[in-house]
Amino acid sequence: MNNTLENESDNRGEGKSSINFIEAIINEDLKNGKNDGRVHTRFPPEPNGYLHIGHAKSIILNYGISRKFNGKFNLRFDDTNPTKEEQEYVDSILDDVKWLGADWEDRLFFASDYFDQLYEWTEKIISEGNAYVDDQSAEIISEQRGTPTKPGIESPFRNRSVEENLDLFRRMKAGEFPNGAKVVRAKIDLASPNMHMRDPVMYRILHANHHRTGDKWCIYPMYDWAHGESDYLEGITHSICTLEFEVHRPLYNWFVDQIIEGEYRPRQIEFARLNISYTVMSKRKLLELVKDGYVSGWDDPRMPTICGLRRRGYTPESLKMFAEKVGVAKRDNIIDVALLEYSIREDLNRTASRVMAVLNPLKVVITNYPDDLEEELLSENNPEDPDSGHRMLPFSKELFIEKEDFMIDPPKKFFRLAPGQEVRLKNAYIIRCESYELDENGEVKTVFCTHDHETRSGGEGSGRKVKGTLHWVSAKHAVDAEIRLFDRLFIAESPEDVPEGVDYKVNLNPESLQILKNCKVEPGLKGTKPGDKFQFQRIGYFCTDTDSTADNLVFNRTVPLRDSWTKTNK
Ligand code: ATP
Ligand code: MG
Repeated sequence: MNNTLENESDNRGEGKSSINFIEAIINEDLKNGKNDGRVHTRFPPEPNGYLHIGHAKSIILNYGISRKFNGKFNLRFDDTNPTKEEQEYVDSILDDVKWLGADWEDRLFFASDYFDQLYEWTEKIISEGNAYVDDQSAEIISEQRGTPTKPGIESPFRNRSVEENLDLFRRMKAGEFPNGAKVVRAKIDLASPNMHMRDPVMYRILHANHHRTGDKWCIYPMYDWAHGESDYLEGITHSICTLEFEVHRPLYNWFVDQIIEGEYRPRQIEFARLNISYTVMSKRKLLELVKDGYVSGWDDPRMPTICGLRRRGYTPESLKMFAEKVGVAKRDNIIDVALLEYSIREDLNRTASRVMAVLNPLKVVITNYPDDLEEELLSENNPEDPDSGHRMLPFSKELFIEKEDFMIDPPKKFFRLAPGQEVRLKNAYIIRCESYELDENGEVKTVFCTHDHETRSGGEGSGRKVKGTLHWVSAKHAVDAEIRLFDRLFIAESPEDVPEGVDYKVNLNPESLQILKNCKVEPGLKGTKPGDKFQFQRIGYFCTDTDSTADNLVFNRTVPLRDSWTKTNK
């Protein structure tokens, strides 16, 4: 299934310098002098949940196009459904879009800002005989709409007079009717092969408080009616959305045709939504995982939400790199989650400081090292970044190493510590294991080593070679930490692919979170702040968690070091 490289070449033609199909359309529009050469995009979230990486892809695409064509980018909340929308979601979306670096400048809008205008336009469309009030229930309307192969039948209310329609519409607005008693429908074509053109609903009655307009309205416009008109009001030139809206496009255009004055018109363009293996992306399912406690919240680091990824240690740059590599497709596909992990690894490899942390500590005593001596050893922060500088790392007689780096009876190619074997301690000395001590359970409790003082890193004898290098921390100086290891939230490549009657949650990974409580980290990590990022040498990329305090350090593993994507693809 590892088809990411294929997709990339599919979508982008001859490689990096080629443009995607949306950019090609925009170039064509510019060449034809459309919209006075303006390019204006938008991101239109509905504030009914937190944003996920699919939305990130859309934001990066829309904002990226506005940058590339020297155009503008709007953020607009599609807040037409008061029963599902909340201020909490608006706030989180603002944070996330900002964090991604998409700048809407002073163009933050809400579809609810246009309710008056939409109302007026609806009166106009009714007056022109192109919309009517229907008294039937949603069920009857849906039945009468027919099927793709069978034409619909007309509502008995379809041919009401303009006067009656206007009167009823005004009374709907005035609150004279209960929820569901009436709707306004566009008068288009019940025989259209496109179901969306069979007299779609434009307005419904909903006596509900709206998070912005309060109780001003008890009728709310439907998505299709509000969306294109919002685009029009904002001067959007290219309204980019996901493929499921392709069949809505004739309706988008029909609605625009009803209100348009002059040359300018917005153009809807569809692309394939982002799907990622081992991930669910449906808002409804993400909400369920949060509400029913399968994860700790929207920002649980295992969630594909933007706030979850941020807490996990992902950077905006890594998500941009990912979006770039995925490209823009016209057909639905599934992207290997390993490509996402590859992107953050690439970014952090350049930027993250290398530090020492021991996840499962084992005591090492250097028997020939003076009891009271403490040395400060020079350590490079990041060999990939010449400007990152150095820090001093304390060394003393007692250290911790990783339990798995010692074996009493190792196999042949175990180039770590074992009785009689030598290893280098990173940035320090070569040590040799002389003996060890077991605890009452027969587990190794302490390893006794000698060090070769001539082999101090950077010193004259440092050229001596041994096969293995271990990370370590000085026992006296180390700081305790909790470390959270995350794995994929789902064990199945396509978690939603389940037989009839089976819940997708059977695919949840029972081992997606492992908490290590007794870890030891180098003292410099004590002062770190949530979001600070590191490479724990030989282990992976980590960041300080939002739960972390100076007295109770908590780190998240962003990704392990191992790079399965490059291995399988290069
Ligand atoms: P729903 O409409 O069911 O609540 P949604 O995911 O479509 O869910 P919206 O808030 O309507 O949520 O999405 C905002 C924008 O993000 C839309 O333009 C939508 O097409 C785009 N988008 C949503 N999911 C993805 C995805 N997986 N990949 C790319 N773009 C997406
Ligand atoms: Mg949507």
